[in-house]
Amino acid sequence: MCIKLDKDDEAVQKLVIADALSRSPQLTTAESEVITLSEDVEAYLSSVDISWSCAASDKRLKEIAEETRKDRLIQEAIRYTKEGWPKYITDVEDNLRDYYAVRMELSVHNGLLTRGTRIVLPAPLHDDILKRIHEGHLGITKCRDRAKAAVWWPGINGRIKRIVEECRHCQEKKPTQSKEPLIPTELPQRVFQKCAADLLEFKGQSYLVFVDYYSRFIDLAHIKISTSAEVIKLLKSMFARQGIPEILVTDNGRQFTSREFQEFAVKWGFQHVTTSPHYPQANGEAERAVQIAKKILQQDEPELALLIYRDTTISATGYSPAELACGRKLRTTLPTLPENLESKTFDKTAVTASDAKAKQSYKNCFDKRHGARPLDELLPGDTVLQKLDGEKHWGSPAVILQQCAPRSYIVQTPRGSLRRNRRHLRRSRNFEPEQSSSRPSPVQNDFSLYTSQVPVTGEPETALHASDPIQCPESRSSEGGPATEARHSATPDPGDSHPSSSSTPRMTRSGRIITLPARYKD
Ligand SMILES: [Zn+2]
Repeated sequence: MCIKLDKDDEAVQKLVIADALSRSPQLTTAESEVITLSEDVEAYLSSVDISWSCAASDKRLKEIAEETRKDRLIQEAIRYTKEGWPKYITDVEDNLRDYYAVRMELSVHNGLLTRGTRIVLPAPLHDDILKRIHEGHLGITKCRDRAKAAVWWPGINGRIKRIVEECRHCQEKKPTQSKEPLIPTELPQRVFQKCAADLLEFKGQSYLVFVDYYSRFIDLAHIKISTSAEVIKLLKSMFARQGIPEILVTDNGRQFTSREFQEFAVKWGFQHVTTSPHYPQANGEAERAVQIAKKILQQDEPELALLIYRDTTISATGYSPAELACGRKLRTTLPTLPENLESKTFDKTAVTASDAKAKQSYKNCFDKRHGARPLDELLPGDTVLQKLDGEKHWGSPAVILQQCAPRSYIVQTPRGSLRRNRRHLRRSRNFEPEQSSSRPSPVQNDFSLYTSQVPVTGEPETALHASDPIQCPESRSSEGGPATEARHSATPDPGDSHPSSSSTPRMTRSGRIITLPARYKD
């Protein structure tokens, strides 16, 4: 049906010609443009396909008119619309100011107040109409478009935003969040200051990969039994050759998070930093070293392949790993002049500059390719949904307990506390985390232990450490290593650690080690 206009209605006669294409009447300047011919008004209304006039039933319109009649504010607005609005906004009561702002678009039809082609709805009808607007689970913009074609009331856009944001269905179906811009990592100040370790499986065998962030020098060892003790033994052997790093970055594999490993870190005096579970990109240097190591292991003579890798120039630094790590070129199967094998110093400033330039270039390429956008920071108490890479829907409501590293958060879930990368968390509204069992959550106590001392620092997630010689930007992951890490104190204070608890040692900004309950691992 179509709304019948009351041609005698003064307000109708003042209805303004609008931009029929936009369906959102745009006023130009003044009342000089007001037309008074009601025929024109009708022509306009029928030309713009007023959805409400066709979709709303008589009964529905009567219901709206009835509610409108009971709504004091709308009645006031109707009165002003008919009799003329005051010259100044300050002359109307506060609640009417939203109407005042759009007064030139308001008119009255059969007891209904309209703003352009939209019915002004009284409050009791808002909830029902919002539900209808969101039928089909359209996004905020589309829902607002639907509203623009039919209804209006002050603050409707905010209500629409809220209903979409609070809709469980919509939140669960949201796509994976875009990648965040890479954080280029600063080159450490010297070789074997900061290193990463990781485990890899190759043809049913396990290997330990160890890499220096500065030189990209890689060490590789076969693991007979995949235990913490075995990994520690191999690392000790590597440390014996290269010295103990100040910082060792690993993932949350059980070999690295055991109490044994924590005691090893304390006894040997290095900071052990772990990265977010399910987010290997954060330990990109180790991840890249793993890829290189796999290529090396594929060779007939892996030892020779490793030697060649160590003696090949890394374009990011302009030197080979051996030149930076050992101060000389290594003798390989290629003939070379004896003087080429002499020890040489390298230009540290040039290495740092070249490395920074390479990382920046890779960052630009990565950010552009992935349309990377920063995600806003989450705060303790925020409710979030989780979705790990590969999962289809957002779910598992959780509450943010604390940010434990840039882009990394501890969240409370019914399963306990977990560490998650920012990209796997989406702020949600109106989601009560599912309750766990009735027994009191142990998290609170542990969390107070966790937070009571000092902020915990760690790897920023999605950091970058560009290197060579395997240049494969399409498949290369971001790499670990925060720009701030180099400032950490080199010597953790064993007195601050908690070797008696089942936990992973972590560093404070001052370099102290504190423990993290085992449940923070995943
Ligand atoms: Zn929805």
